[in-house]
Amino acid sequence: MEFLPEKKFGFGLMRLPRRNPDDAADVDVEQVKQMVDLFMEKGFTYFDTAWMYNGFNSENVAKEALVDRYPRESFTLATKLHSGFFNTLEERDKVFNEQLRKTGAGYFDYYLLHGIEESMIGKYEEFDCFNWLLEKKAQGLVKHVGFSFHDTPELLDEILTKHPEMEFVQLQINYLDWESKWIQSRAVYETAVKHGKKVIVMEPCKGGTLANLPEEAKKLFHDYDDSRSDASWAIRFAASLPEVMVVLSGMSNIEQMEDNLSYMEDFKPLNDEEVKLCHYAADIINKKITIPCTACHYCTEGCPMHICIPEYFSIYNEDMREDLGQKGWTINFKNYEILAAKNAKASDCITCGQCEAVCPQHLDIINLLRDVANHYEK
Ligand code: SF4
Ligand code: SF4
Repeated sequence: MEFLPEKKFGFGLMRLPRRNPDDAADVDVEQVKQMVDLFMEKGFTYFDTAWMYNGFNSENVAKEALVDRYPRESFTLATKLHSGFFNTLEERDKVFNEQLRKTGAGYFDYYLLHGIEESMIGKYEEFDCFNWLLEKKAQGLVKHVGFSFHDTPELLDEILTKHPEMEFVQLQINYLDWESKWIQSRAVYETAVKHGKKVIVMEPCKGGTLANLPEEAKKLFHDYDDSRSDASWAIRFAASLPEVMVVLSGMSNIEQMEDNLSYMEDFKPLNDEEVKLCHYAADIINKKITIPCTACHYCTEGCPMHICIPEYFSIYNEDMREDLGQKGWTINFKNYEILAAKNAKASDCITCGQCEAVCPQHLDIINLLRDVANHYEK
């Protein structure tokens, strides 16, 4: 397999369909097999997993649905090492060996240091992870090395200057975050390009936000072409950037996959007018989103109170979008009760700060949970 995939679209194995909606690890493997089959049949080859995706089960599912069913050279597999899961060199190596065992892949086509940001880069350096990646490459256990990144263009510039051996970077790029203060999609993309790196895009739909637009933004796109889905605009925006090698989508069912493949099978970049529409839509949407959470769930793994943070943010966003002042009550008050009964209430937060330390969107989670609690528990 070449470094650059033939098609600019990858299957992110992080939001896989579940048999039990309350258990991320309980993956509907049969549906994933159907999705993999459709994906491969249409000529797509790039799969992206990670150690902790789907309650630490995504790499096992990659084996069952993909590796065991297709010739190894017919697809490429990416996975990652996250700094939160090792504290010694032995533990670092153990994660890698376990990933080889879980996936059964024999080698990884792409291997990434996961979610680098200011608070983590020191650990990756301390444990010599950049050289370690090169060793794995020399041993033939990894074909291409890179990292995913959630921080400022300045830090990215620093890392790429120090580590020119990195072949690619994975960045959060979508039209909503293109000029945002925190994510700075445009600036980090331009920094990667300045260093001659290829870019893998994550969160092109911002955790589903751009796949289900507010009415005003939806109308804007529909007036231009009513045959296209909301998600298609977001995926094509990211894929239209010339140095992007692949856009990842964390698809959760076969319908989402069918929609995505319909326009990515024979991909056509957006024209200038279409790009302008995306930026205009971003202005509309940004005015409507209260909490820009992408539902990545990084925060929930270590929450001592088991608070379902992204689910609370999602229903809260819906209510804020619905102009609650006029409605007074929405079905989300009931949804909140159900979620709180199964997990913990927003007000159970003990302000330990674990979640804020790992949130790639740099959200002020503790205060936002107070808003959620004030809204639903009053
Ligand atoms: S600050 Fe609150 S929500 Fe965050 S991890 Fe701690 S208890 Fe959980
Ligand atoms: S609050 Fe942050 S870490 Fe948690 S799901 Fe949302 S974006 Fe991810």
